[in-house]
Amino acid sequence: MIISTDRQQRPDDFRRERVTTLGRDQCPFCPGREALTPPEILAYRPGGSGSNGPGWDLRVVPNRFPALRVEGTLERHGEGMFDRMSGIGAHEVIIETPEHDRTMAVMSEAEIERVLWACRERVLDLRRDGRLRHVLLFKNHGAAAGATLSHTHSQLIAMPMVPDFVREEIDGARRHFALKERCVFCDIVAQELADGRRVVQDNADMVAVAPFAPRFAFETWVLPKRHGARFEDVPRPEIESLARLLKSTLLRLDRALEVPPYNLIIHTAPFDEGLASLYHWHVEILPKITRVAGFEWGTGFHVNPTPPEDAAQVLRGVKL
Ligand SMILES: [Zn+2]
Ligand SMILES: [Zn+2]
Ligand SMILES: [Zn+2]
Repeated sequence: MIISTDRQQRPDDFRRERVTTLGRDQCPFCPGREALTPPEILAYRPGGSGSNGPGWDLRVVPNRFPALRVEGTLERHGEGMFDRMSGIGAHEVIIETPEHDRTMAVMSEAEIERVLWACRERVLDLRRDGRLRHVLLFKNHGAAAGATLSHTHSQLIAMPMVPDFVREEIDGARRHFALKERCVFCDIVAQELADGRRVVQDNADMVAVAPFAPRFAFETWVLPKRHGARFEDVPRPEIESLARLLKSTLLRLDRALEVPPYNLIIHTAPFDEGLASLYHWHVEILPKITRVAGFEWGTGFHVNPTPPEDAAQVLRGVKL
């Protein structure tokens, strides 16, 4: 990780691509077009309407849209993942709202909580399949972040192996634990709260921070204050706290950076491993406001133009 202050710019200077909403006329995620998606796996239907028709608040469907198959996040993190899955696994789309133009930043806390709850329900269900080892939960917001449909949605990929980039993070946590007999993420939470310079905001259960060594400008992590290895095991009050902090963090990013494209990833421990004490689930938000240059792709070093203390200060200063 390299922080280059030579390339430092104010937020206004960053190249950005506004999120464009397109294809409302053909959008397969809009109510009334349920026939364009595979049959739903889960839906929240407050009025008790029948499956695969309108009347839903949220739907989860299998992903059979070729354009969505390997979006940005996965391309960046691990080519060939699907080859190695040998046909076992699941790829699902969480259609977060019936409203075509709504984004997560402007959704109500209750709506965001519903999305998180649906993710939790799906992971708990997939965890029962003994062949599966890991579930990735992520959201690509904006064409520049890899989203091919503008109607807000998240994705879930369950796989029979643990991808390398998850394994690397776990190995780092394992080394820290071996040395200090403490969870590295618990140490990060305690240090960041005590220091304060990289804290964007916190509430009773969660803290949003600009990580000490960000890979991207304005990269922001949301960590639970209470230790827990798995997102899907989190109790309802913490899901509520997460929804509140996600909303305000996304609003801060929207206002500071003029609605940037972003990837949002929930990192949770793989199934069936003795990781309960050393891994700590968290959310990583990766705004796409600077182009990753050939240097960065080629070397794996990321030239981050904004020191995390500056990014946190800008985000803290946003009026909500
Ligand atoms: Zn739509
Ligand atoms: Zn921890
Ligand atoms: Zn992580």
